[in-house]
Amino acid sequence: MTQTHFDQGDLIGVLTTQPLDRVLDYKAPEGGCFVGAFVEVPLGPRKVVGVVWGKGRGDWDYNKVRSVIRVLDVAPMRDEMRQFLERAADYTLTPMSAMLRLATRAPGLGDPPSMRKVYRLGGDPPARMTDARGKVLAVLRDYGGLSFTLKELAETAGVTSSVVKGLVKTGAVAEEDAPRDTPFPLLDPDYGSKDLTADQQAGAKVLREAVTAGTYGTTLLKGVTGSGKTEVYLEAVAACLSAGRQALVLLPEIALTGEFIDRVEARFGMKPAEWHSGVTATERRRVWRMVGQGQAQLVVGARSALFLPYRQLGLIVVDEEHDTSYKQEDGVLYNARDMAVLRASLNAAQVVLASATPSLESWANVEAGKYARLELTSRFGEAVMPSMAAIDMRSEEVKSGHWVSPTLQGAIRARIEKGEQSLIFLNRRGYAPITLCRACGHQIGCDQCDARMVEHRFLKRLMCHQCGETKPMPTVCPSCEAEDKLSAVGPGVERMGEEVTALFPDARVVVLSSDLYGSARAMKAHIAEIAEGGADIIIGTQLVAKGHNFPKLTLVGVIDADLGLQGSDLRAAERTFQLMRQVAGRAGRAAAPGEALMQTYQPEHPVIRAIIAGDEEQFWAAEAAERKQAGVPPYGRMAGIVLSSPNVQEVFDLGTEMARRSEPLRRIGAQVFGPAPAPIARIRGRHRVRLLVKAEKSAPLQRALADWAAQFKLPTNLRLSIDIDPQSFY
Ligand code: ADP
Ligand code: ZN
Repeated sequence: MTQTHFDQGDLIGVLTTQPLDRVLDYKAPEGGCFVGAFVEVPLGPRKVVGVVWGKGRGDWDYNKVRSVIRVLDVAPMRDEMRQFLERAADYTLTPMSAMLRLATRAPGLGDPPSMRKVYRLGGDPPARMTDARGKVLAVLRDYGGLSFTLKELAETAGVTSSVVKGLVKTGAVAEEDAPRDTPFPLLDPDYGSKDLTADQQAGAKVLREAVTAGTYGTTLLKGVTGSGKTEVYLEAVAACLSAGRQALVLLPEIALTGEFIDRVEARFGMKPAEWHSGVTATERRRVWRMVGQGQAQLVVGARSALFLPYRQLGLIVVDEEHDTSYKQEDGVLYNARDMAVLRASLNAAQVVLASATPSLESWANVEAGKYARLELTSRFGEAVMPSMAAIDMRSEEVKSGHWVSPTLQGAIRARIEKGEQSLIFLNRRGYAPITLCRACGHQIGCDQCDARMVEHRFLKRLMCHQCGETKPMPTVCPSCEAEDKLSAVGPGVERMGEEVTALFPDARVVVLSSDLYGSARAMKAHIAEIAEGGADIIIGTQLVAKGHNFPKLTLVGVIDADLGLQGSDLRAAERTFQLMRQVAGRAGRAAAPGEALMQTYQPEHPVIRAIIAGDEEQFWAAEAAERKQAGVPPYGRMAGIVLSSPNVQEVFDLGTEMARRSEPLRRIGAQVFGPAPAPIARIRGRHRVRLLVKAEKSAPLQRALADWAAQFKLPTNLRLSIDIDPQSFY
């Protein structure tokens, strides 16, 4: 056992969020402190927040060691959280200070709790009763002892705030001061349970029992879109709440949280805590503190919600577990799916990985017996999986600059006649991916990156999808200065909108692309309107593949099923398979049967054939065999190393030296490939060089990588990033 309590003046080690690669020595403050306590310490001229990590090292003159300023009034960091941060740091080769930053992403943690006015039922009803006054009192009575802010109360009652103020004067409503960081309302596990189908019941029972047992375990919950996976895992959440533990549901896309929160409210009677980049700073602080005190039972959020200080975590659900956005691509490079499993294993908690199209990683873990597997086989209600077919583009007549084949046009027309919706899917934002000068052949690129600029006609600008840089559409070629020779090449969703509108002038056509909305809220509202029948033809990017419901949709047309197959990414086939199946799954969710048509120039490609045949197991088995053969994840280990610098010579020089001096890696049998220019060789003005390290599954890769990288001194301005299990290869 390590010592956990320190008396005043004892030497203690404090981990801070400052980028120093060691725990710093301080003296314990008056009153002493515990391991795990959040403290404020002096660092140079500043005061910073840290966590007491253990005994001090004592390699510094005791008299010069400074004292902790104060212990903060927040729940101390629990042992399992400290272990989680350490293990995650080791796995991702991340300094502990960066891990602590992830775990303390709420402003003003150390501040004393601020107060605000709240309102609750007071004494006698007023002598003069009005309709509006009656509404306010009814709300307060309906919600029992709950207190409201002025705004909440007025809004819920549907009156102006002056009505509430008037009631305060009469004494019928009491006004008092309460801490701003209020506990989240209690969720009722039995509030709105649905009658589950036999299939769903069986799944829910297994998950409920696992959660109630209070041990670690991971279950892959597989089922086509609409089979009721969400209903089933909400039962696991209910069991978790009943057991007095906290639950976390991770979603891949903020745009989906609104719809999901509504479902939670319908199921449990109250809203859960929300955690993602769209949450305000004060609300973040409230969530962080309440999660730590066990006064937020359910958190719905983005991947960083894994690093909240749960008091008693019992369940983590990773919805759409295959989604690539679970991999954080800058800062700390972690995969939230894997970290969820790590965190749960340290908390004796359960993990549910839900997906219609699981990642090969999870599929392999089921095969290896590490994860359990639950399957929901049919869609809820009368809905069935759509029928799928390929449209062989080699035998379709399509004019140049157009992409909708006659076969697809016919299918859309039939839907319009029946009053049903069609979705045209193209995973390319903007108007056209290439802007080409027909005089000299020049393609307009980004000045900062080796990437083409994409025309966004809606915004009237060219945009770089790497760095976000935009510029106005030029009228002359930047290279040869020819006038009016620039032309759009290739399709983007905006351009598809033009083509489809021309083909079906009487139909209501909408383009759904995240960059066309000012806010997540605006997008949600528009999607809801479309879902209720506000459009005949929807043109969309990947956004629509992620969980939105369109009950009137019966046709999905995929413009370019070959798009994803071209990359050098080892997961290209898997991604295409998943994406195409998900998009197809949008069709026929209600009673009307759906159809999915995929335009392709290679209908005989094994991936396309597997998608059409709907033969998942065969696809996974074939894909697994291929990866095993190649020794790549999930059957081997990989790390991607990217060196970047404004100085191209320096990155190549260091890359070459790293490849040459790779003894620490060779010692564990790992291979080093490169250096090579990264697929995107320049981003934001920084030249990028890539090395790839491949090792056997059992090799101690992280330690070897750390030893290897430690041999080199980096020139200032050169950045080295190591990505364990890279998901993207750019
Ligand atoms: P998935 O998560 O697998 O896509 P959902 O849980 O979202 O599926 O279910 C799809 C739709 O069917 C939702 O609107 C859901 O409320 C509804 N649904 C699923 N199962 C039931 C049930 N047993 N009773 C009532 N509605 C259900
Ligand atoms: Zn750029």
